[in-house]
Amino acid sequence: PTDEPRGTEATFRELRSWQQRLRAQFPILADPDQAAYLDNAATSQKPQAVLDATTAYLSTTNANAGRGSYTWANRTTELVERTRDRIKNMLDDPSPESSHVLLTSGATEALRTVARDWLPLHLRDGDEIVVPFADHQANILPWQETQDLLARQGVRVRLRPMPYQLSSGDYDHRALAAAVGPRTRFVAVTHVHHVYGADMNIHRIRQAVGPDAVICLDASQSIGHQPVSVTDLDVDFVAFSGHKALALPGTGALWSRQVRGPRFRPQGWSGTPNTAGAVSLLAALDWLHDAGIDRIERWTTALALRLTDALSRLDAFHVLGCQLSLDTASATQRRQSIVTFRHRSLTSSDLGFVLFSHGFMVRSDNHCQGSAGEKTGSVRVSTHVYNTPEEIDRLVGVLASLG
Ligand code: PLP
Repeated sequence: PTDEPRGTEATFRELRSWQQRLRAQFPILADPDQAAYLDNAATSQKPQAVLDATTAYLSTTNANAGRGSYTWANRTTELVERTRDRIKNMLDDPSPESSHVLLTSGATEALRTVARDWLPLHLRDGDEIVVPFADHQANILPWQETQDLLARQGVRVRLRPMPYQLSSGDYDHRALAAAVGPRTRFVAVTHVHHVYGADMNIHRIRQAVGPDAVICLDASQSIGHQPVSVTDLDVDFVAFSGHKALALPGTGALWSRQVRGPRFRPQGWSGTPNTAGAVSLLAALDWLHDAGIDRIERWTTALALRLTDALSRLDAFHVLGCQLSLDTASATQRRQSIVTFRHRSLTSSDLGFVLFSHGFMVRSDNHCQGSAGEKTGSVRVSTHVYNTPEEIDRLVGVLASLG
């Protein structure tokens, strides 16, 4: 048809057989009558390789890590260490010998670790930190708790709200540059927004805050979807979820550069670590690497663009964040795998229910967005490499019928 979204069609044609091969590796998607899973920003499905690696570990090698003199324990320790090395490698770490990876239960625990263990060592009375109040609560509450904790010790830390440009879903870098000063020590940011789907321009954040401020990146929605290079982004901490990147639930990590000042010794895993989770994360990162992260990014970006383009022609719907259509899409407005929208009269929970009755699993509510975020609920469609343009077209067909 002549109104097929340009550009995305060529991407789907080029990558189709590669994508089909990958999709076939997800057992949970095998039933053709199953509803389409479009809630990947909440958590991802797992390929057979991840299930196999985890089962093989538990059925042949299971032991505690770092505390044995026998083969299973040594092998477990080695697997956990390999996972940490793999994470450094994935992040394009320029100094793996001095950086640190802490395996956590997810991004929330990783961010909390920075707030609990690093910030109090480095902040002085009168310092400022920048908090993204329209991001995920996991990237807001820990910084507020640290402020309260320090206040009880007589150390006053000011939280400056990160300015946003809500029309694009990105931060307002110009306003940020005007807001930061010599006491701005720490800036919490998100790589890809979990509601707006915007790929936040982290280079502009570094330009705005200068070389000395510490930047902590919540990469929950970018790891597994696009290349993430700490060398390129020039950030000091990276927190992410393993379970959103094809690994088991209860997995994630905190990467930290060796930052100036008192040495950072992340506490955690002083008890028994989630060794099976670490094995699953290693297998997931290997799988993503072998699949090709650049191609995954092209595929899911094309799916998101196909959906926003269709929604831009449906009057009853309003897309949050960047209003991309294929005519307006530009290199400076990058949307990743997430598209969130509202219907002019249906509530988000009604819309979610209607969509499930038509065979789509999506997320509806306010998506744990912080206090400065959207007040009313919305429906979020989030894809991964196994989703298809046919699923998006069927979804658009149902949305169009809602008028
Ligand atoms: N940050 C963002 C941007 C998220 O989307 C999420 C999960 O929804 C989190 C943090 C929390 O991640 P986890 O479930 O791994 O703790």
